[in-house]
Amino acid sequence: MPHTHCYPESPIYSDEPDLAGASCGVTTLVDTGSVGAEDIDRFFAITRKVKTNVYSLLNIAKTGIIAQNELADILQIDEASLQKAIADHPEFVVGIKARMSKSVVGENSITPLVKAKEMQKKSGLPLMVHIGNNPPNLDDIADLLTKGDIITHCFNGKPNHILDDNGNLKPSIQRALARGVILDVGHGGESFSFKVLEQAMRIGTYPDIISSDIYHKNRINGPVYSLAFVMTKFLCMGFSI
Ligand SMILES: [Zn+2]
Repeated sequence: MPHTHCYPESPIYSDEPDLAGASCGVTTLVDTGSVGAEDIDRFFAITRKVKTNVYSLLNIAKTGIIAQNELADILQIDEASLQKAIADHPEFVVGIKARMSKSVVGENSITPLVKAKEMQKKSGLPLMVHIGNNPPNLDDIADLLTKGDIITHCFNGKPNHILDDNGNLKPSIQRALARGVILDVGHGGESFSFKVLEQAMRIGTYPDIISSDIYHKNRINGPVYSLAFVMTKFLCMGFSI
């Protein structure tokens, strides 16, 4: 499952890989940005001892998510350590992650994403971008993305969502999808709106990936509980198995 948080030692979005994974009937988890270059060796070692297959999308901030604003200090993006972490774990690091919402980037607006794209060109890995509250504006984010990049929290109900005031896809999102950008649900605690999904379905826009954004709190207290629980919502909305 391509959007989870399963680094047990994360101070915020932690979980035990086997509780989010194998115990919920999920064979494979991709942790998305809980860990940056500083903790990748530790995370790799931990995941060698669990049943569930685990991969990492490395946070472009070297600390990973140890506070909500990991990209508010631009010095957190250290190219040398990121490239080393990618080179050291070619089978484990399968992409990079940038969280692009106001609470994360502070005053840095779009700059962390510009830097992430520069680094991505060197690694050739996919990039997942979290969207939430603006700034940065979703149009500026979407216009930077290229084929294979992933927009997660695609049906969030915050002002920076994918629809315009008339319920159509924002032109920047239309252009991004035409270029091959991928939509990922990334349900999470506050990042999924039935209203946005319903309207998206009305205009023929569907997610490429249904993922949970699971970590211990939203697994235990909801609204995520498990990938199966999230998928059931989509079955209820008329999706096929
Ligand atoms: Zn997440």
